[in-house]
Amino acid sequence: MPTFLFHDVIFGPVISRRLGVSLGVNLLPTSSKFCNFNCIYCECGWTLNRKSPQFPTRELVNQLLIERLQERHAKHEKLDVITFAGNGEPTIHPHFPEIIDDTILARNQYFPEARVVVLSNATMLHNAKVVQALQKVDQAALKLDSAIDATLRLIDAPQMPLTAAQIEERMRAFGHNFTLQTLFLTGIYNGTVVDNTTPQEVEAWLAVVDRLRPRDVMIYTIDRETPATDLHKVPLEKLQEIAARVEALGVQTQVRG
Ligand code: SF4
Repeated sequence: MPTFLFHDVIFGPVISRRLGVSLGVNLLPTSSKFCNFNCIYCECGWTLNRKSPQFPTRELVNQLLIERLQERHAKHEKLDVITFAGNGEPTIHPHFPEIIDDTILARNQYFPEARVVVLSNATMLHNAKVVQALQKVDQAALKLDSAIDATLRLIDAPQMPLTAAQIEERMRAFGHNFTLQTLFLTGIYNGTVVDNTTPQEVEAWLAVVDRLRPRDVMIYTIDRETPATDLHKVPLEKLQEIAARVEALGVQTQVRG
């Protein structure tokens, strides 16, 4: 099914169903996706990593971001959030920590009320500098799509050995000040049933939420075309049912159906 790439370093603003008026920052190549996951639902398509990806430089990112912020500021246009997302995992960029510092400075100058948000798959939490950078932003949204290894491998296809327990351990070391984000979906992939909403899945995932106690949880489902065919949205009622169980643990939850 058709998916799409972000062809700019700074994109939008878009009205994000999760975040509001969002100016996006894409730290990955603008001509191809680059990620250490290969999620079957990724709106950027399949991961076909090149050996030498052309990351935008720290200087270019800063220059383009400041230009866009200045432009919006001069026109008195609203901005709720600067979101690091784009064509892959933003924390892979070799200068991610420095770019976060630049971004916070620029945000403070032009839109001090706007939040800086990073959507991350949490794979770089073994890197102390990445952790420090994520702890500086207003919202680090860290992905955990399943607490069961076989499902994690099926849905996210990490490009390295990685278990749900390792992700949990790294999140625990991060502390409580993060958003745990989970995309729920159902379907069939390569002849295998995909469903991270089964009772067994939800129990295992809730147990992780309870142990980690993040500041909040973001639950959502497929919204756009996916590279794997035969994947399905989870009905809003089901997402709300899962959210109610998270709330019962005392953890605030956002649902986007
Ligand atoms: S982690 Fe994000 S960018 Fe990477 S494959 Fe998954 S959905 Fe796509």
